[in-house]
Amino acid sequence: MILEIQTGTDNPILRKKSTAISKFDKKLKKFVKDMTETMLKKDGLGLAAPQVGVNERLVIVNFRLDSKNFRPTAFLNPEIIEKSLTTESIEEGCLSLPGIFGKVSRPVQISLKFCDENGANRILALDGINARAAQHEIDHLDGILFVDKVEGEMRKEK
Ligand SMILES: [Zn+2]
Repeated sequence: MILEIQTGTDNPILRKKSTAISKFDKKLKKFVKDMTETMLKKDGLGLAAPQVGVNERLVIVNFRLDSKNFRPTAFLNPEIIEKSLTTESIEEGCLSLPGIFGKVSRPVQISLKFCDENGANRILALDGINARAAQHEIDHLDGILFVDKVEGEMRKEK
């Protein structure tokens, strides 16, 4: 099922801090499936639950395996436990802010602690586009939008 995307920099759902997931049940698995479908349909690199109107700590990242292959991956209750000192400034966009782009500086590598769909704890090292997408999506869980972090001019595209 394709879910409706919340938009707007002042949208209260996008600005609210999301709560931790505690029930790893069938309903959650269905929600992960719907979010994944929605992200792929809208051509997103990632999608956070608040973007579809649910203030819970869940993000999907279209995880890049190599130049051609991607695997949508769900990170539940994600927490960045390590960041590289090296940062990189790259242009970002967001499905919730269509037509707006801007450069955001973020650590190049991170270690991510999270739960999988079954509630098992995992730790994963991410770099490049995967690290960037995860950080952008996790910001959504704290009501932060990339435009809050943009350095310099924003680019608008219709
Ligand atoms: Zn976004």
